[in-house]
Parts: sequence; structure tokens; C-alpha cells
Amino acid sequence: MGTFARAERLRKLPPYLFAEIDKMKAEARKRGVELISFGIGDPDLPTPGHIIRALQKAAENPQNHQYPDYEGTPAFREAVATWYRQRFGVALDPETEVLSLIGSKEGIGHIPLAFIDPGDVVLVPDPGYPVYHAGTLFAGGESYPMPLLRSNHFLPDLSAIPSEIVRRAKMMFLNYPNNPTAAVATQEFLQEVFAFARQHGIILCHDAAYSEIAFDGYRPPSLLSVEGAKEVGIEFHSLSKTYNMTGWRIGFAVGNAEIIAGLGAIKTNLDSGIFKAVQEAGVAALTGDQTLIHETCQIYQRRRDLLVDGLKRLGWEVEKPKATFYLWVPVPPGYTSKELTVYLIKEAGIVTTPGVGFGPHGEGFLRLALTVSEPLIREALQRMERLKL
Ligand SMILES: *Cc1c(COP(=O)(O)O)cnc(C)c1O
Repeated sequence: MGTFARAERLRKLPPYLFAEIDKMKAEARKRGVELISFGIGDPDLPTPGHIIRALQKAAENPQNHQYPDYEGTPAFREAVATWYRQRFGVALDPETEVLSLIGSKEGIGHIPLAFIDPGDVVLVPDPGYPVYHAGTLFAGGESYPMPLLRSNHFLPDLSAIPSEIVRRAKMMFLNYPNNPTAAVATQEFLQEVFAFARQHGIILCHDAAYSEIAFDGYRPPSLLSVEGAKEVGIEFHSLSKTYNMTGWRIGFAVGNAEIIAGLGAIKTNLDSGIFKAVQEAGVAALTGDQTLIHETCQIYQRRRDLLVDGLKRLGWEVEKPKATFYLWVPVPPGYTSKELTVYLIKEAGIVTTPGVGFGPHGEGFLRLALTVSEPLIREALQRMERLKL
């Protein structure tokens, strides 16, 4: 209420759905319930030791105590280009096609400011990472939701977007492997989206935060490995999920030089880059032992199998995702996603995220993050067995 009315751009944001859920959590804790949280997509595993040691060493160097270059140190951008070539077989110019980000969320939130004017439309997945819509709104743009439906494997149906919207669309966000649905996209699908974006002059922003979190030998493709994609596309990557570095705030954007330069122009005016010692640690992550990523994925895979098999035994209808550390679980009949979330907290001390929190088409699902140890997953399954669902 206070004296200072918030700006319209903040008041236009969707209402904070989690207030009631936070209250339930606090009440359960007060009753002495040990909550088991599948709610937040934040790795519980520590950052690998060689990355921490690189930071420790770099923090000692006074040269690293001064302002960094906003676009990233040459060594970091070089390391990104090398990693990208080795991982996806795509060549990048570290000078013009790579930009460091203070976590990829920062770049995703800021890019509409570089290209979107009032009246412009941004196509965003629904359900989707909330920052696509918020960043669009802050830039004065209008977001148009592209439903991700189970019947279409949680891929947007481009032919269902009205031509009037396509005409006004200047940007599209896409995210595979996908949060929250855990769906994956084939190279052919990315090819199709690229062709659509090129035909209509749309900037294609692919959020690939989960490109390295995959199972059963599956390797998610990059947008830029689609022939010609650099003409209209950029891809956002993050060290957060790949190297268990969510708290470090380091990510990067790669791709079309003009789009990268636009985002860079916003950033020079708003931030002054990433602490150089953190960038040195980022170099250590990208150039160091990559087999550690495989070990991390093995841990998530075991948790995935334990939780999916357990839920199935309890009669839930769940599939094993090929990538990301999420399960996208259909809500049993008789509940909304929010009602079931509240019920699970109250009756079992289990925290999940209601699908509707990611957009109207997330209704009917819960998102469970596999950032919980196996013993706690077992405990959660035991608690759920006692429920009447
Ligand atoms: C976690 C996440 C990010 C970004 O994480 P940063 O820590 O800001 O790099 C971006 N997109 C999606 C879909 C995510 O889940």
C-alpha cells in the first residue's frame, strides 16, 4: 500500500502465486514438519573442486579487483568458443559472437530492451521460464503465449500463431531441453523454427540452460548447429546447471553478431560485467575435465529412475525425461495444480511447484526438481504412500 505506487511495468506482472504456498510451508515448519523440497531448480551438488581453486587463486590477483570488461575477458570468450566448437561443432568468433552474462537470466531479461518497442510482440512458450514474459513487459512489449501441449510433445505449433501476431512479432523465446516440461527438441524441429523465424524476420532466442543435463546417452542439439541459424539466432547458455554454479552468476550468449552487439549495448549502460576472478573460474570449468558433467547427470538419472518408478507404483502417470532435472507430472483428477501443491505440503511436507505458476497451459501438472538426495526421495515416496490420492 505505502506512499510510493509501483510503476505500471511491475503492477502488470502476473500475481505472485507462491504467496499462499509460502504461507503453507511456514505453517508446516512451525508444526515441526521436515519439508522435503522438489520445488526449486537449484542443484544441491557442490561446484567441482578445481573450479573453486581457480577462483581462490584468481581472487588473490589485484588485477582482478578492478572493473572487468562488460563483454567478458578475452580468455573467457575464447574458452566459450573452444567449448562450443568441441561440444556442438560450431565455430564462433570470440570477439563478436560471444558475450559474457551475469547468469543467463540477466541476458534473457535484458535482450528485449535492445530490440523491443511498444507494440512489438514477443512469442513466448506457455508454460515457460517467467523471465521471457517479464523482460518483454519491462521493455514495453507484448508477449504472445505459444501453448506447449502434451499432444504436441510440448513443442509450440507455429502454424497456430495468428498471421496478425506473426506480422508484429519481432522476437521468439524457445527453450530446449525445456523447463518446466522436461521436453526435448530434435534438430529437425529447431530447423523448422529457424526457417519460420527467417521467413518472418524474427529474432530467435534459444535458451539452452539445460543443454548438458541429459540422460541415457542423449545429447541435446544446439540451435546454432542448424545450418544458417546464426542469421537470426542467438543461444543462451549458463554455467549454473552444467557445473553446479548457480550462485556464481556466470553464463553467456552466442550467435548472430548484430543481436549480440545489441544486447551488449544495453549491458554497457546497466552493468559492468562479471568479477574477473569468477570469469577465470569459468575458464577452468569450460576447459577442465568435462567427464564430471557425466557424473552429475548419472546422479540425476538415478534419482529420476527412483522417483519415476516410485510414483508409478503409487499409480501416478509419469514419464522418464531425457533431459533437465525436472519431472513434469500430470495432476490426478479432482485437483488443480495449486490445490495439489497445497495438499502435498499440508499432508506430507512435500514441496512441489504447481504447473500454473509457469503459465495457464501449465495447469494440470506439477513440476518436481530432482535436486533432492536418494534417501530423501525414498522418504518422500513413503510419505506419499500414506496419502489418499
Ligand atoms: C536456470 C535457468 C536459467 C538461468 O540460470 P542462470 O543461473 O541465470 O544462468 C535460464 N533459463 C532456464 C529455463 C533456467 O531454468
